[in-house]
Amino acid sequence: DAYLSAIEAANEMINAYVAVTPEKAREMAKASDARITAGNAGPLEGIPLGIKDLFGTEGIHTQACSHILDGFKPRYESTVTQNLWNDGAVMLGKLNMDEFAMGSSNETSYYGPVKNPWRAKGSNLDLVPGGSSGGSAAAVAAHLCAGATATDTGGSIRQPAAFTGTVGIKPTYGRCSRWGIVAFASSLDQAGPIARDVHDAAILLKSMASVDPKDTTSVDLPVPDYEAAIGQSIKGMRIGIPKEYRVDGMPEEIEALWQQGVAWLKDAGAEIVDISLPHTKYALPAYYIVAPAEASSNLARYDGVRYGLRVDGKDIIDMYEKTRAAGFGQEVKRRIMIGTYVLSAGYYDAYYLRAQKVRTLIKRDFELAFQAGVDAILTPATPSSAFGIADEDLASDPVKMYLNDIFTVTVNMAGLPGIAVPGGLDHKGLPLGLQLIGKPFDEETLFKTAHVIE
Ligand code: GLN
Repeated sequence: DAYLSAIEAANEMINAYVAVTPEKAREMAKASDARITAGNAGPLEGIPLGIKDLFGTEGIHTQACSHILDGFKPRYESTVTQNLWNDGAVMLGKLNMDEFAMGSSNETSYYGPVKNPWRAKGSNLDLVPGGSSGGSAAAVAAHLCAGATATDTGGSIRQPAAFTGTVGIKPTYGRCSRWGIVAFASSLDQAGPIARDVHDAAILLKSMASVDPKDTTSVDLPVPDYEAAIGQSIKGMRIGIPKEYRVDGMPEEIEALWQQGVAWLKDAGAEIVDISLPHTKYALPAYYIVAPAEASSNLARYDGVRYGLRVDGKDIIDMYEKTRAAGFGQEVKRRIMIGTYVLSAGYYDAYYLRAQKVRTLIKRDFELAFQAGVDAILTPATPSSAFGIADEDLASDPVKMYLNDIFTVTVNMAGLPGIAVPGGLDHKGLPLGLQLIGKPFDEETLFKTAHVIE
C-alpha cells in the first residue's frame, strides 16, 4: 500500500510506470501474507517490484513501450519474472523504457520520457534517467518500488543506474533466461536487477538467474549465494585499469571519480594493475552494426498480423507497410534500416562479418587480461552525469547519443558481467557511477568489490 500510494503521488511527474497493477499487487501480497503465516515464506516474500515493460507478464500490459504492440497482453510469463514470483515477490506494474530498449535516455518511449528524480543543484531543468531501463532506474531512485527488473543489451542497466545513483548489474550472458523477454539483439540481451544497494541487487539476481530449457543459451551452472559474497575481503585481489578507457575529451570529474575508485580499492587491500584492451575503440561502431542487424531480424515479426497494432491497407503488403510505418518510432526505424543494410548481399562481408570479427578480438582482449591474473576491471560507468531531456546537442545527432555507451557496450560484446555502483556526486550534485567488469560467471567478485565502493 505504501508503494502504491507513492506511485499514485509521484508517477504523473516522473512517468516511470506505464501500467500500474494495484489489484494484482494486493492479490499477490495477500498470498504472501498467507505463506508467511503458514511458515513457508520465500526469499523475496512480499517484496514489491517494478517490471520493465520488455518482460512478458501473463495477462498484463507488455508493449516494450512501442505503439506497434498496442493492447498486447501475453499468455505467458517470462522465466525471470516467474522466478521472482516463485520466490514470493509482488508486482507493482510495468516500467517505462526506450522503445524496444533502443536508446540511452528513455526518450524513444511511445509513452514519453521519464524524468530523473535527481536535479542539478540550483536548477529546475528536468534530466533524463538514462536508458533504456530509465523507468526501472527512476522508480528505484524515487522509492516507487523496492527493486526493479531491467535488461542490458549495450549498457541499459548500468548507464541508467549510474545516472540515478542506484546499483545495476548485467550478469554474464546466459546467467538469466531470455525466454519471454521481447528480443532486441539476441546475442547481447541479458536481464538483471536495478536496486538501491549492492546487497539488494545480489538478492534479486540470485532469484532471477536460472538455467531454462526454453532458452538454450542459458547456462547450466549453479547460482551461487551472492549475498554471502557481500562483506568478504578483497585483500590481494588484482584490479585492472584499462588505459584505452581514458578517452579523448573525458571530463576531469570522470577521471577524478575513477582515481577515487582506485583509492578505495587500494585501501581495502586490492592490488591495482595497468592493463591494455587494445580493441576497445572499435567496440562502439561494431556494436552499432551487430545490435541493429539482430534487431532488424527480431522485429520482422511485427507485421500487424500476430500482435498489437494493425493499420488496414488495400492488400496485405500495404497493411504491413502502413502498420510498420505507424507502429515504430524513429529510432527503431533507423535501427531496422541500418540492420537490413548491413545484412544485405554485397554489404554483409564488409560490415556485419567484419563487426563479428571485431567482436571476437574484443572478447580476446578481456580473456588475455583475465589470463594474466586480473580478477576484475574498474572503469567509469558513463562519460558524464545525467543530461537534460530534449538536449539539443544529442537530439539532433544520434551518433553523439550512441557515445554514451562507450564504456558499457564492450561488456555485452564480450558476454561478461558488469556492475554499476554509485561513486559520488559531480560538481552539479548529480550521481556518477563506477563500473566493475568480471570474468564469465563470476558475479560474486563484482558484488563483493562493488560493496567496498558503495
Ligand atoms: N543504448 C544502447 C542502444 O541504444 C543500449 C540499449 C540497451 O542496452 N538495451 O542500443
